[in-house]
Amino acid sequence: MQSILVGIAASPGIVVGPVHLLRWEVPEVPHRVITDAEIDGDLERLHQAVGRSRDRLRALRERAEAQAGPEEAAIFDVQLTILDDAELIQSIEVLVRQHIAVEKAVDLVFLEWRQHFARHQTAMLRERVGDLVDVQIRLLSVLLALPDYDPVELPTGSNAILVTHDLTPSLTLQLDRSAIAAIATDAGTATAHVAILARSLGLPAVVGLRTATERLRGGEIAILDGAAGTLAIAPSAAEIEGARERAQRDAARQHELESFAELEAITVDGERLVLRANVDLPEEAETAATSGADGVGLMRTEFLVVGRAAMPDEDEQYRAYRRVVEAFGKRPVIIRTFDIGGDKLPVGGFPTEANPFLGWRAIRMCLDQPELFKTQLRALLRAALHGDVRIMLPLVVTVDEVRAARALLDEAADELAQAAVPHRADVPLGVMIETPAAAVASGTFARDADFFSIGTNDLVQYTLAVDRGNANLADRFTALHPAVLTLIRQIVESGRTHGLDVCVCGEMASQPLMVFALLGLGVRQFSVAPRAVGTVKQLVRAVRARTAADVLTEALGMATAREAEHLLRRRLRQELAHDPTLLETAALLT
Ligand code: PEP
Ligand code: MG
Repeated sequence: MQSILVGIAASPGIVVGPVHLLRWEVPEVPHRVITDAEIDGDLERLHQAVGRSRDRLRALRERAEAQAGPEEAAIFDVQLTILDDAELIQSIEVLVRQHIAVEKAVDLVFLEWRQHFARHQTAMLRERVGDLVDVQIRLLSVLLALPDYDPVELPTGSNAILVTHDLTPSLTLQLDRSAIAAIATDAGTATAHVAILARSLGLPAVVGLRTATERLRGGEIAILDGAAGTLAIAPSAAEIEGARERAQRDAARQHELESFAELEAITVDGERLVLRANVDLPEEAETAATSGADGVGLMRTEFLVVGRAAMPDEDEQYRAYRRVVEAFGKRPVIIRTFDIGGDKLPVGGFPTEANPFLGWRAIRMCLDQPELFKTQLRALLRAALHGDVRIMLPLVVTVDEVRAARALLDEAADELAQAAVPHRADVPLGVMIETPAAAVASGTFARDADFFSIGTNDLVQYTLAVDRGNANLADRFTALHPAVLTLIRQIVESGRTHGLDVCVCGEMASQPLMVFALLGLGVRQFSVAPRAVGTVKQLVRAVRARTAADVLTEALGMATAREAEHLLRRRLRQELAHDPTLLETAALLT
């Protein structure tokens, strides 16, 4: 019997395929005591499990190396080293000799090691926690004879819908793209990084399904609709046919929107806008460059790091940045320095802080590790020789951070000059305004920053105290809350007063209704998902900036996000009423 699970739309696209359930979580291990006679047998099982896990990791390593290159494959080296750690294995053996069954012994020792690493002073060791968890899951699945739900264990061309509780960015990057056609998760929201990454990879996704992993067993046929945010289980033949037809219509519409690529982003009353693209992976650059964007408004460099065992060196980073810069020719490319932390963590991606979003994230982590930061800055200054590069700092709260970053940028330039490495030193340095502190005090950055870019994903999260990745709070993540609108207006005015460009690069800028709102707040620069460039251009070419401003004056007086949304929706429909195809766009707004 068909049932429809409703979640949150995260990445558009319709996929019909079998469910592949991935349970990549530490299983429950019952406490069990063994007799003297059982000790040798359990020790033998331990060594067999280590052997099997090692074989599995080697196979994965080979596959990753062939598919993604040696850097990606290095994750598995770290995990192999853990499996070969004599001290770790001995600690497990000691517990087995004390009559603790081998599964429980593995569980206890890994728990102790994870706690120890999580509290370690060295960041690199704290990051090993994720690898420990991965190895723990792998060993326990062998010992408990659980099915091996490995994410990459699927035949090519399976067209599978991967269903899992949560997907860390590093796991997302490891997915076998030839076998997985879509992603569905219990956790997450539209602005969680898994959703952002799914959009970058062009993988349809629904997140926030809450109970999908409990309700599914794997193998069921399902229809995932990434734009509607639904997962329909066991559909009828007619429903499958309907889904395929909708997919074809979507493809035709996407094709039609591509015809907007060459047109200018100009409103009916003549306001010329800057419309740039967000790029999350260097491989996206060439496609993004043909989307009709005026450059890159945000390159999220941390995706060069997540899922990796070690930081990419200067040359590797230089090549990645240069690729994006060259794809865009003379058009500006704004590259953001590493925003590691929050839910974007290297290797296993398991947070080691109680409050990662309030923790050691982004510019804080970079300033505390000047060598790591300067490596990135040198790579950026070298890439700047090949085009119009601008550097942007994430999560700034105080101007001290901008000054410290600029000092390191100067040092990086001096180091390159001394080593006679070709580079450009006069690169603009901008800041992301994504905390209420930076928004309210945006004027204090004006002398030290060359431009502003509003990160609405974080600005909404921090203003409303709503975790951007928590599916249970998704309804409360409302960008049209009067506090958020007021802050955005304030940032725009501050930019105008000080003669600084203000762009919006959060997900808000990719949604037509929100674009209308931002236009009304005076925003004239947008950076959006490459696939949204056509939709946003079509919208702005059909509305008047003057009308948007009037509507926003009214919306700012509304007490709640719901009231503001209702008003905006009504007025945007009126604005688009002259064109039935555009009304269809308005229908997509719901
Ligand atoms: C934002 O916060 O809006 C933003 C663009 O940055 P990220 O989503 O990478 O945190
Ligand atoms: Mg952000």
